Amino acid sequence: MSKHPLQFLEVPRRDPEKEAAEERVQHFGEIYGHYDAADAAQQAGRCLDCGNPYCEWKCPVHNYIPNWLNLIEQGKLFEAAELSHQTNSLPEICGRVCPQDRLCEGACTLDEMGAVSIGNIERYITDEAVKQGWRPDMTNVVATGKRVAVIGAGPAGLGAADVLAREGIHPVVYDAYPEIGGLLTFGIPPFKLDKEIVRQRQELLEGMGVEFVLNTRIGEDIPFEDIVNDYDAVFLGLGTYKYVHGGFQGEDLPGVYDALPFLVSNVNRQLGLDRNPDNWINLAGKHVVVLGGGDTGMDCNRTAVRQGAASVSCAYRRDEENMPGSRREVANSKEEGVNFLFNRQPLEIVGGDRVTGVKVIETRLGEPDPDGRRRPETVPGTEEILPADAVIIAFGFRPDPADWFADHDIEALPSGKVRVATHGDMPFRTTNPKVFAGGDMVRGSDLVVTAVFEGREAAKSIAKYLGVR
Ligand code: FAD
Ligand code: SF4
Repeated sequence: MSKHPLQFLEVPRRDPEKEAAEERVQHFGEIYGHYDAADAAQQAGRCLDCGNPYCEWKCPVHNYIPNWLNLIEQGKLFEAAELSHQTNSLPEICGRVCPQDRLCEGACTLDEMGAVSIGNIERYITDEAVKQGWRPDMTNVVATGKRVAVIGAGPAGLGAADVLAREGIHPVVYDAYPEIGGLLTFGIPPFKLDKEIVRQRQELLEGMGVEFVLNTRIGEDIPFEDIVNDYDAVFLGLGTYKYVHGGFQGEDLPGVYDALPFLVSNVNRQLGLDRNPDNWINLAGKHVVVLGGGDTGMDCNRTAVRQGAASVSCAYRRDEENMPGSRREVANSKEEGVNFLFNRQPLEIVGGDRVTGVKVIETRLGEPDPDGRRRPETVPGTEEILPADAVIIAFGFRPDPADWFADHDIEALPSGKVRVATHGDMPFRTTNPKVFAGGDMVRGSDLVVTAVFEGREAAKSIAKYLGVR
């Protein structure tokens, strides 16, 4: 039976239930529930099939969204899972962590009336299909005998490994950490992404023939020279790990923490990877000020709340409209009791033996900067001190080229990002013809889905380079 053309008017958007704030702050688990088959089919059926799938274009991996929505509406779960994996290596993860309001759902024709819940349906497809026994179909893959080293098991490396395996090329993925995922595991907190989901993805990839070598830092445990010599090609997905600091006084006071070590110490404790209490940054009972308005800042806010901080305030130098953090995560932080202080620029972190506060000044928005974002200007005479006994600096990350790049003709740009081909038939190839790169180390700190896209595209270039495509 064909669906009613105005079904979207009769069926409102309905997201899986979100746990109440008072309850979810008591634990670190995910906060959203799941669709069942009927919910997913009904919500997928809201797609207008408008003929101009802007959602596909806005999705960085160009998922075949209307097609898998249609399959889900018909109850064809395994077909939808197979199709979803043709363009995305981590669909269940992107469905959870993509800022959909800025990407696919923001471009949905129904946006004003409640966009189709694309992210939730994408997550449902793989979660449910795997639960029911679906595994990626590798029956047509022909082994080529080629071997490629993938350095970095973050989204870029996993995207590359997925495509390489499907091309019949054996990927061996190295990572310095004891678990795969990069920032998926050692960055994004478990209340946004359950770490079991990342482990499940490891099993799926291993089932496809991907080999992981963990706890191994290339350049230290194994020289890069050996990797280049031992493999037919190399993919680099090393991420960006140099912290951006404010350059103001007091940043080195005890009680001031960089965002990532704070988040990682919490995950390490949760996963049982580090049981030494001295390595755990626990802010229970503290008055915490988080500096920065991006996703990392939101994750720090919400982690501090869950640790039992006495109060959490988040200071950001622009207004709410101009915050870089996903709207969903800002809203979740507010619901969980975070106090936002907009238009406040930090001047200094104050204290004696340890931090006691942050001196801030009010700002107003001036002329746009070269990126089109209005530059904050300080308002003289508005300085104040925000009392704090812990401060977290979440100003982001900068690319940090490895010292071995230069020895292997891998050029970096003055910004520190690795130079790759952007045109021609082998995009994402570095200045060393045997070495390809993608993800945050190429584009700067960005998103999971953009890193997946670049890893996948680089793998297609590697296949061409090896003559198997
Ligand atoms: P990474 O994820 O950083 O992975 C790089 C991997 O390379 C790491 O595992 C590292 O150990 C390994 N490595 C580096 N050097 C070596 C070496 N020499 N030898 C072996 N291994 C090495 N994006 C979203 O889309 N949604 C979000 O909600 C979101 N939240 C975020 C929250 C936080 C706190 C942070 C920090 C980032 C967030 N992001 C989010 C951004 C997203 O996580 C990154 O853009 C993405 O992970 C980049 O992927 P990547 O593969 O390039 O690098
Ligand atoms: Fe939307 Fe991200 Fe999924 Fe693309 S990958 S459809 S942007 S949730």
